[in-house]
Amino acid sequence: MTQESSLAGLTEGQARARLAAEGPNALPEAKRHGWLAIAASVLREPMFLLLVGAAAVYLVLGDLTEALVLAASIVVVLAITVVQERRTERTLEKLRDLSSPRALVVRDGEQKRIAGRDVVRGDLVLLREGDRVPADARLVESHALLVDESLLTGESFAVDKRASGPDAATRVFSGTLVVGGTARAEVFATGATTELGRIGVSVAQVDPGKTALERETARLVRVVATVAVTLCVVVALLYVATRGDVLGGILAGLTLAMASVPEEFPVVLTVFLALGAWRIARDGVLTRRMPAIEMLGAATVLCCDKTGTLTENRMKLAQVWRDGAWRAQPSWSAPDGAVLSAAALASEPEPFDPMERALLEASAGLGEAAPPPGRLARRYPLAEGFLAVAHAWRSDAGTHVIAMKGAPETVLALCDAGAGDREAIAAAVKDAASRGLRVLAVARAVGVPEPPASARDIRYAFLGLVALADPLRATVPGAIALCRRAGIRVVMITGDHPATALAIAQEAGLDASRVLTGTDLTRLDDAALAEAAKTAQVFARVRPEQKLRLVTALRATGEIVAMTGDGVNDAPALKAADIGIAMGRRGTDVAREAAALVLLEDDFTSIVGTVRLGRRIYDNIRNAMRYLVAVHVPLAGMSLLPLVLGWPLFIFPVHVVFLEFVIDPACSIVFEAERSDAHVMDRPPRPAGEPLFTRRGIAIGLLLGLAVLAATAIVYGVLLARATPEGEARAAAFATLVVGNLALIFSNRSHRFTVFETAFAENRALWIIVALAIAALLATLYVPPVAAVFRFAPIGASLLGIAALCGAASVLWLDLYKLVQRSNGAGLRSA
Ligand code: ADP
Ligand code: MG
Repeated sequence: MTQESSLAGLTEGQARARLAAEGPNALPEAKRHGWLAIAASVLREPMFLLLVGAAAVYLVLGDLTEALVLAASIVVVLAITVVQERRTERTLEKLRDLSSPRALVVRDGEQKRIAGRDVVRGDLVLLREGDRVPADARLVESHALLVDESLLTGESFAVDKRASGPDAATRVFSGTLVVGGTARAEVFATGATTELGRIGVSVAQVDPGKTALERETARLVRVVATVAVTLCVVVALLYVATRGDVLGGILAGLTLAMASVPEEFPVVLTVFLALGAWRIARDGVLTRRMPAIEMLGAATVLCCDKTGTLTENRMKLAQVWRDGAWRAQPSWSAPDGAVLSAAALASEPEPFDPMERALLEASAGLGEAAPPPGRLARRYPLAEGFLAVAHAWRSDAGTHVIAMKGAPETVLALCDAGAGDREAIAAAVKDAASRGLRVLAVARAVGVPEPPASARDIRYAFLGLVALADPLRATVPGAIALCRRAGIRVVMITGDHPATALAIAQEAGLDASRVLTGTDLTRLDDAALAEAAKTAQVFARVRPEQKLRLVTALRATGEIVAMTGDGVNDAPALKAADIGIAMGRRGTDVAREAAALVLLEDDFTSIVGTVRLGRRIYDNIRNAMRYLVAVHVPLAGMSLLPLVLGWPLFIFPVHVVFLEFVIDPACSIVFEAERSDAHVMDRPPRPAGEPLFTRRGIAIGLLLGLAVLAATAIVYGVLLARATPEGEARAAAFATLVVGNLALIFSNRSHRFTVFETAFAENRALWIIVALAIAALLATLYVPPVAAVFRFAPIGASLLGIAALCGAASVLWLDLYKLVQRSNGAGLRSA
């Protein structure tokens, strides 16, 4: 019925040409954040408004140089922000592309998984349960295809589709969901020309959402900003009252506001998470929900399925059992061929399932596979409580052969076999399963007049067993050992036989002393289940719905649960888990859409890599935040203190701008690039619900900030008291402040280790920032026109040295103290 020509699909060359001619299979982006949009949003930033305000005051004062300098810095701030936002935006865009549904197409006669956007007109796509239809297509061949078209029609019931019939029934539409059956279809419209394109809905979107982390940060920013603004008003009024200078008062207030508004906090969050997502995408992990990576760093339990995640999912037929003996390849004879060809008949003619492919290959390889006895008349798929697949074939004579393969328990229950035989079969199953092989029983019924309504309605003749090998991924034992060190319990959940599960678990290095089966689970109430899940590491013959129960039970006991899954019925469990992880290759689109992370290569080890990255990101965000807390103290303090103590003003808007040029890149580049420390995977997950800003963290930040403030104030105060000219005093104290700021960066790189241990840990960005900051500092001190703008007078080398030393010492004493304390046996203390 199908045309041979279209069975081969397009060639890669044709597809490329068509892609170039007709464009990608994607909807025009509703609203891209162009340069202008980003620039416009920057114009609303408080920092920007403050700068504009200050520049305006200078203009009114008639101070053209100052006004111009600020205007120039406005441009620079604008440029930096725009570049940074573009970078984040581009990263997110790339992630969006990657997360668009994948499509299985036939190109050059081979099945290939490609990005949905690369599908072109004329492509032959293969559809199965759980797939999003990638483009509008006409069915070429279908088996019991059911499609949910609610996205287009709003109707929530599934629609029958088939290759022949009324026009509407033969077409499937982009964005709709296959809820049952399989099909091949030829694409006739892509991108904006599809039905979906016409109504302009976008299916795959990376939804950043609001997280606890973001809410916490937003709250902190609100609190600090409110305090800062109140303070600024007070300062301005104070200034006007004591010095009777209105414009000067406004300027002082604006300076204090610029110095204390913590506008970098939310930037740190977005940039770190977005760049983290980008980093991990290079390792084959796609982030659909940004905070998931960071959350994975806190995971305490990792539930993963066996087939394809721990194993390679490269099923190979190992042995066939019949007449009381397992036999491997060279000694197979005609009766073994009969077992295999029945197993092949119970498989899809064009299988996706690696196990069915292996069966088909083996059967064809024997060369004795008879042509199918007629046409495939009916399928009996896997179902709850029915771990087998049966196919009814109708012969020309009108009778049916029903071939079945599946879990031995399921199949044998429907077979006529004597008690003795059953014992022998059970022993054979046990034997192969305990060698880690997956065992299927094969049975057949012949001469059936009509296919029964259920495969359970008739009796079968048992033919034999087949055993398939699916090797453990070589990297899995190492990765599991790493998880154990990192305090993460790995739990294996599989639909396979308990003995097979145990053998693989043992090989993987899991605790195989206890295995729970799906039947055990139904007998346990929720409390007992949670208790069991806390100790057992192997769950076998578990049905997908039971995964949801396990996840809920674990979460109820306070565990942070990561869960992998691939099937349609895994979606609820993936959604319910703290971190749902879907398989990119094997997984269905439904699973991918429910998950927070997608493993593009289905590889377990990349989960461990993501845990490491998650912990690193969390550490780095915390370090950056602590640094930000610290750095704002001397800035705000030094704009306030001189007013209170009646000193000449110390900092003006230019100084704040200068420091902001160190602060912003410092937190977004230096801290983001910081590697994880060597022991990041040796410590347990952080306690659930631990706030980003711990009291201790804030206290240390404030303490360090106050220390830098004290050093700067002392240098300024002492020099003023010794009647040093104001310009020199300011220059020296500013040097103290800048060096203190750099010292803060060094000191906050890690909260576990001191500067003395981390100083030379690789971080190229850090050294570039340090070099630039020092060069810029020297320029402000010794290049006369620049010095004039900063109100500096040149100072001698020894004074500069002393000032710098004060700045460094103000911070590094704490590290020294920590180091001494540690060598006194206090052990690793975290700050
Ligand atoms: P896993 O959790 O290891 O991926 P599955 O849930 O895919 O296991 O499969 C569970 C059991 O269902 C298998 O051990 C096998 O007995 C049976 N089964 C799975 N797929 C098929 C199939 N295509 N044909 C027959 N039986 C199958
Ligand atoms: Mg499976």
